Parts: sequence; structure tokens; C-alpha cells
Amino acid sequence: MNFEEYSGVWVFIEENDGKIAQVSLELLGAGRALANKRGVELAGVLIGDKINGLSKTIFEYGADSLYVYDQPIFKYYRTESYMQALLHCSEKYKPEIILYGATSTGKDLASAVATDLPTGLTADTTELDVEEDTGLLLASRPAFGGNIMATILCKKYRPQMATVRPKVMKALSQEKGRIGNVIEEKIDLKEEDIRTKVLEIVRHTSKKIKIDEADIVVAGGKGLGSAQGFNLIHQLAHTLGGVVGGSRDVVEAGWVEHHHQVGQTGVTVTPKIYFAIGISGAIQHIVGMKNSGLIIAINKDPNAPIFQSCHYGIVGDAFEIIPLLIQAFHTA
Ligand code: FAD
Repeated sequence: MNFEEYSGVWVFIEENDGKIAQVSLELLGAGRALANKRGVELAGVLIGDKINGLSKTIFEYGADSLYVYDQPIFKYYRTESYMQALLHCSEKYKPEIILYGATSTGKDLASAVATDLPTGLTADTTELDVEEDTGLLLASRPAFGGNIMATILCKKYRPQMATVRPKVMKALSQEKGRIGNVIEEKIDLKEEDIRTKVLEIVRHTSKKIKIDEADIVVAGGKGLGSAQGFNLIHQLAHTLGGVVGGSRDVVEAGWVEHHHQVGQTGVTVTPKIYFAIGISGAIQHIVGMKNSGLIIAINKDPNAPIFQSCHYGIVGDAFEIIPLLIQAFHTA
């Protein structure tokens, strides 16, 4: 394989109902940094039906070029059709790196593309870097139960590919009016060539704010002692208009449901304010909340690791401090 033929950083742009997924904008931010370091172009790959209107936003968030497959056959995401488009584009233009969001679509597509190209894929990456001179992608992710960060290299193949967790990279600020180069592509793919048929789209609708979209998350841990003690977390979240979060241990204890779990095997959150109350600060928890705007920890152990990862720390008993906070915010 001649590595010299491969150049450029690509981001698969995920689109749902005519909207670009936030993770794709975050990846354009991360991809821009890699492309700058290598002195190469940053491109997006956008696949869908009637999607041309989205190119403007993609350039404004950092892409230099955009490969577009705009055909009715791409109206719904299907592994077989999207994979054919990406294989076509990648074999024709030979990028050095392709990044995907670690969403259900991104993970499905990246693994299918990796097997067909064939190349390596690092899944669920949380840190990215590139060697300036060789172009080797340094894709890091927690390993061995989150006890170490492993940097995974793809030394023998190109392109190098990674899926990246939503909310860990930062999108650039939108540069209004920034323009780029649109490359329109087409593949000859017939409906009868695709085995998967979309019969119905069932939308999950809920009025509740999702934890990964909340501005304030009040998370509690084993330090709350019991399901009854954990009620204080609900009360503080309610007072602040926030959403409840929890460590894995409280989820396993059944004090709160799994979709409230923050961390490596839960959700990654980046609220404006994150309270970590009675949470020790294990690495598996920290990876899910470390990019929050303001982190406030309450723990009765002054040596608890959480105090290494917070902006403000209160050493004290949660059962004394939470009622004081609720009272103070009520009267504020
Ligand atoms: P503990 O570690 O027991 O900490 C309780 C804390 O409360 C202590 O620091 C204590 O000082 C403090 N405390 C006690 N009483 C009070 C009081 N009255 N007032 C104030 N503070 C008090 N964990 C996650 O959270 N999310 C994950 O996604 C996750 N994924 C994992 C994946 C793997 C593969 C593994 C191996 C582990 C994972 N874990 C995860 C578990 C993680 O390692 C920790 O075990 C867990 O986060 C600890 O939860 P905790 O902080 O609530 O409990």
C-alpha cells in the first residue's frame, strides 16, 4: 500500500431529518486541528436525499471541501447503500483519515466500511492526535475497564478510521459566510440491489429533557446511602431546573434508572453546571462529565479523587449541604 497516495482528513456528516448531528460539527472541529497539523485539507462526506442546503453550515464549521451524494436512494440510512457511497468516495479520492460519530449510525457504517476497504477502526475514541510527519493517527480510548487510556494505531493500512464519542470534542465557532468546494458524486445503485427496506419510521417522543441535553445535571453517588437518601438529589435537581444523574454504583443499586448513568458505560454529558455529590470520582465516571462547563463536587472525604476534577469543591456531608443549597436557591 502506497501511503503517499492518501491525503486529507474526512468527517462523515450525519444528517437526521435535514439537520446535521451535533457530533459531526464536533468532529469538524477535531478534524480541523488534525488537518492543520498535517497541512492537508479537511473534507466532509454528506450522504442523503435533498441535502444540498446543508453544505453552507459544514463549511462554516471548518470543512474546506464537501463530497455530496444526493440521491433518493439515500433518503433513509441503510448500511448497504451508505457504505457503497463511502467506499466509492474513499477509493476514488483516498483520504488519510476518516472520522465518524460514535452514534448508532456512525458505528454501524464505520465497521461496515472498515471490513470492505479493508482497514482498521478504533471505536469509541475520546482523544485524537496525529503525527505531523508520518500522518499516523493517534486514537485514544479508555481500556481495561477504564483503568488506562490506550492509544490505538493503524500502521499498515489507509485510510485510518475512528468513531468518536459525542460531546468529547469541541465544535469550532461558526464562521458565517465561510465557503468551500462542493464535489457532487453519484453512484449507480438500484433499490432492488439493497436488501434492507424501510417500512415505517416510529418516532420516540418524550417531553422530558434528556440528560445529555440538560444545562444543569445534579448527579449523586453511593455517598447518598440509600434510595431514600438519593431523593435529595431529585429535590436539588428540581429546585435548579436540572436533570438527575448518577454513578454506575447507584444505577446498579436501583436508586435511579440506567439512562441517568454518567460515565464510560453510561452517557457523556457537557452541561453548563455539573454537581457531583457523594461521588468518589472514579476515572470511568470522570470520562463522562469532565468537559462540563462548571463542576461542583460535594464529598465528605477531602482526599476523594473527584476534587482533582472539579472547579469548586465542598468538603462536607451531603445531608447537611444539599438542604442548605435547596433553601438558598429557593430564597434566591
Ligand atoms: P463510591 O466510589 O463508593 O463513592 C462514594 C463517595 O461518597 C465516596 O467518595 C465517599 O467519600 C462519599 N460519601 C460518603 N458519604 C457521604 C456523605 N454523607 N456526603 C458526601 N459524600 C459522601 N462508574 C460510573 O459512575 N459510570 C460509568 O459509566 C462506569 N463505568 C464503568 C465501567 C467499567 C468497565 C468499570 C470497571 C467500572 C465502571 N464504573 C462506572 C464504576 C466506577 O469504577 C466506580 O465504581 C463508581 O463510579 C463509584 O460510584 P460512586 O462514586 O457512587 O461510589
